This record gives sequence, structure tokens and C-alpha cells, in this order.
Amino acid sequence: MKILFLDQSGKPGGAELCLLDIAKPYRESCLVGMFADGEFRKLLERDRIPVEVLSDAPIDVQKESGLIQGISQMIRQLPLILKVSSYAKNHNLIYTNTQKSLVIGAIASLLSRRPLVYHLHDILSVEHFSRINRWIAVTLANRFASLVIANSESSRTAFIEAGGRVELVSVVYNGFDIEQYRSPLRSVPQVRQALGVEQKFVVGHFSRLSPWKGQHILIQALTQCSDDVVALFVGDALFGEQDYAQQLRNQVNELKLGDRVKFLGFQSDIISLMTACDLVAHTSTAPEPFGRVIVEAMLCGTPVVATAAGGAIELVQPAQTGWLTPPNDVPALATVINYCHAHPEQAKPIAQAAQLQARQRFNLEGVNRQIHELLEKVRNEE
Ligand code: UDP
Repeated sequence: MKILFLDQSGKPGGAELCLLDIAKPYRESCLVGMFADGEFRKLLERDRIPVEVLSDAPIDVQKESGLIQGISQMIRQLPLILKVSSYAKNHNLIYTNTQKSLVIGAIASLLSRRPLVYHLHDILSVEHFSRINRWIAVTLANRFASLVIANSESSRTAFIEAGGRVELVSVVYNGFDIEQYRSPLRSVPQVRQALGVEQKFVVGHFSRLSPWKGQHILIQALTQCSDDVVALFVGDALFGEQDYAQQLRNQVNELKLGDRVKFLGFQSDIISLMTACDLVAHTSTAPEPFGRVIVEAMLCGTPVVATAAGGAIELVQPAQTGWLTPPNDVPALATVINYCHAHPEQAKPIAQAAQLQARQRFNLEGVNRQIHELLEKVRNEE
């Protein structure tokens, strides 16, 4: 099957890392069209997936943008739309991976008469999207898409509540290459020594730096934990949230936690780092659409505490495969950290149960098979 994948971002966020895994089986005949250049292109090239940056004019519509801005952007993007529709004619279907690529892909699908698939990696809620942006996503999907793949039940429910057609949506969780997690590139002592945390209880936080990812909650929680509890923040301000990155550094200074907090920036060897942590904390203050880092921690066999909202609730069974705490609840997070620190023998079997379950539920082969069947159905219905 020849698929034209579309993604607006040059940066490797969760949606892009997920697409990387989905595109691999189609590498002989697919093309990933990006609307901006960046690290994501290099990851695609590393995996020998054909990629082309289709535009050098960034689409300047923010999640909270209004109608006028949206329309003027569409006029500017006419050359991109024409290019995408001419490429689409050489493919069996258009697979859009982000909201802006849905907008371009929908018009291109109309012009090229190719079926459209929308992989929904977002919860279309007020916390994340303006009313107009939610309306655009739902209206275009309802009118043009033959299939919407939601990355969790939570994303599916939000889509339907925003007016999305029930019969369009199938839930497919992200898949992970299980084998990679069995043999990290670096050993635990190697990583801990390099970071100077051999004797510490290490809480890892793996996410781009962004207010709703709640890094500040973990920093605050450290004040309620013993001095040998340290936090590693892995991830960068991918989408221009430099102010928040600075705020976090100020918070660390004000709380005099400089020797207990490390900011490692964007890292590619997540598996070695996660495996070397004693606990992985996910602290999003708004519902997480899926939460790749939660599954990754499980696959590494590291205990995980996540915020009880959105997709995280579908991933973690409290006290069986991890812990859930209410969003923004610093004492509750500190309680879980302190518990895992004091009772490693209790935390370990929970992490092992999570690892076993994650290997079954999120196996990439199974997930890719599921997606392939859905895409075949779309193709055959045309
Ligand atoms: N990630 C990474 N390097 C970093 C920080 C994060 O590769 O320095 C990865 C992380 O392992 C996960 C993804 O980025 O696979 C983030 O996905 P998630 O669903 O947790 O959040 P999103 O970015 O989609 O909101």
C-alpha cells in the first residue's frame, strides 16, 4: 500500500515518534511529507523512511488561533496544498498525523480523490484547543476522513463530545518495539555514575518542558522528600516554551534544590535513562491524550506514578501496575515517591507486573497489524 503520511512538525514530539514506528513497515512505498524541517527528518532518514520537507513557510496557526488568522494562513498555504494533492495522486491514501496536516490533507484529498485518514493524538478539549480549532478538526474529519485513529479512549471520547462521528473512530494505542527495552545501550551503573547519582533515589521525568507537563509539580514535591531523593528532567522546550524552562530553573534556585535537580535537555537514549531511574513520574496538569512515557517506563521495568486523567487512567491500574495521583497534587506525589523509596520490595513486583502487561498490550507488531487492517478496509471501501 502506498501511503502519503503528513506531519506539520519538524520536532520529534510523541505524535512524531509514534508515526516513525507506523511508517517503518511501509518504507518501500511511502513518503512522509513534513511541513517544517528538523530533528524528526533525521530520525526518519536514520530508519530509511522516505521523507521530504514540503514547505518552508511555517503554518502560523496556534492551538488557540481564531478564524481570520486561519483563513489568511490557508491562502498562504495554497502552494503546499497543490503540492500535497499532486503527490497524493501517486499514493493510495493520505494519512494525516497532526491537526494542521489534517487541514492541508483534507483539501488535498478532495482535489486528488484519495481517501483521508486522521491519526488523532490530541484530546480536543478546552484546555488544549480554542473553540474554532476544535470545530475545524471535527468538521474536516467528519466531512473528509474515512477513518479517525484515536490514540486512547479519552481522545476518542473528546472527539465525539466535540461533535465527531462515532462510526469514524477506532482506538489504537501507541506500539513499542519491545525488544529494544530488553537490552538498554548503557548499563544502570554506567548511567548513574555518569550522572553522579549512584547513592540517590532517582525520580525521572521524561517530557518536553511545557507548563501542562507539570515539571514544577515534581520540583515542589522534592521539598517533601528526603535529601537523597533527586530529580532528572529529560526533555527540552520543543515548542517555544523557553519562559517555562527559565521558571523551572528559578523555582529550583528559590527552593535551594540545585544539588537535587538535573536538567538533561533532549535525549535520544531514553531506555537507558529510564531503566536507571528508581521511579518515573508523569505529572501532567491537564489530561494526557496517551502518555508514551508511562508505557516506556513500564517496559523498562521502572515503577511509574502518573496523573489520574486522560489516557493515563487507561494505562495504569493503581497499586497493580503503578500509581495514580490527582493532577496538581504535590503532597500526593510526594507520598508515592516516599513510599517507593521506603518500600522498594513492594514497588518492584508492581513494576514487573506493569512490564509484563505492557509487553502484551503495546507490542508494536500487534499495533501495526491493527493499523494495517484498518487502512486496508479504507482502501477497499474506496
Ligand atoms: N522523549 C525523547 N527525548 C526526550 C524527552 C522525551 O525521546 O528528551 C520522548 C519520550 O520518550 C516519548 C515522547 O518523547 O516517547 C513524548 O511522548 P508523550 O506521549 O509522553 O508526550 P507528547 O510529547 O506526545 O505530549
